[in-house]
Amino acid sequence: MADSLMPTYSRLPVTFERGEGAYLWDANGKQYLDAIAGIAVCSVGHAHPDIAEAIYDQAKKLVHTSNLYQLDLQQRLGEKLCQLSGLKEVFFSNSGAEANEAAIKLARRYASQNNIVNPEIIVVSGSFHGRTLATLSATGNEKIKEGFEPLVSGFIQVPYNDIEAIKTVAKNHPNVVAVLVEPIQGEGGVNIPDEHYLATIRELCNQYNWLMMLDEIQTGMGRTGKWFAFQHTTIKPDVMTLAKALGNGVPIGACIAGEKAAGILTAGTHGSTFGGNPLACRAALTVIDIMEQHDLCQQAQKQGNYLLQQFKAQLGQPQVEHIRGKGLMIGIELTEECTGLVKQALEKGVLINVTAGKVIRLLPPLVIDQQQADQIIATVIELVDTI
Ligand SMILES: *Cc1c(COP(=O)(O)O)cnc(C)c1O
Repeated sequence: MADSLMPTYSRLPVTFERGEGAYLWDANGKQYLDAIAGIAVCSVGHAHPDIAEAIYDQAKKLVHTSNLYQLDLQQRLGEKLCQLSGLKEVFFSNSGAEANEAAIKLARRYASQNNIVNPEIIVVSGSFHGRTLATLSATGNEKIKEGFEPLVSGFIQVPYNDIEAIKTVAKNHPNVVAVLVEPIQGEGGVNIPDEHYLATIRELCNQYNWLMMLDEIQTGMGRTGKWFAFQHTTIKPDVMTLAKALGNGVPIGACIAGEKAAGILTAGTHGSTFGGNPLACRAALTVIDIMEQHDLCQQAQKQGNYLLQQFKAQLGQPQVEHIRGKGLMIGIELTEECTGLVKQALEKGVLINVTAGKVIRLLPPLVIDQQQADQIIATVIELVDTI
């Protein structure tokens, strides 16, 4: 059936026809509980009526005019994101990789303004930043880069969660201009750094005049129980990127700059035909409305704590190496490869994901209730028992 598609994905043998909240139904009418939400995208649930209504209403008025003109909805979304993050100005893209491309270009431009030639950006092992040439070059996973050489230069990789390694680079590389890191690694296996990691990176960025750039594409928009994961700390980044849950499935990304990084990407230095068009911005504004109305950050925290606590209490098998998470971003690391569990879970009517080979990753919609959380717990426990 998929002969006419490039085989870039090994897809599971299921076709979903419709969704509602945390549920999906396939072409045969079988119901599934979605504990991955289109990879942390559909946070307010599938087919949310307010979003459907907003998209329809907007489509009847205006979908696109380009960034040649003033866009009121883009202005409003920009203001809202600045208000939620405490940052200053936004560039809108259509995806996560493009949001990171904007951040990388911003860092290059920052270097050029400061007369730094051959600038370098510190990145970390196990990271994921996207599939475009620059973002895959920044990504700390050899498999993703393999066969795509020559890569984009200007990235120095250090081990994740290793402050000393960053300090060593600081001493030996006067041309560093930025650090790009995920507050919690998603694709890398739901890896949570030590408590002071981000704050110490912040201090180093201040000391060396680097930009602190956080990739919150997966952790942002309430996933970890705060609007943005950095809000679990007292620091603020200079640049933050968003995408995934921002439009609940309508493609939109954002690169947001704080004081130190504002005013660097000026007219003519960057752009996007579609970026921040009225349809996408209307969807994202509606997502934020729904999240505020239903206090979904709080919900993510509550259900996330419950899931984590239950897993820690009930998953005592020797094949369970580590259970970790923040909000509704949860990883259960097993001692061995377990990608086969995804299909077994599908058969049981629950959608899960396995990343980094042996980490069961759960990213359910932020709207799940206790009973749905219990179903996820029961299914995962049953599956781990089969290992
Ligand atoms: C998904 C993801 C990206 C890439 O986003 P796309 O929309 O697929 O380009 C980048 N960074 C992180 C942390 C992600 O999880």
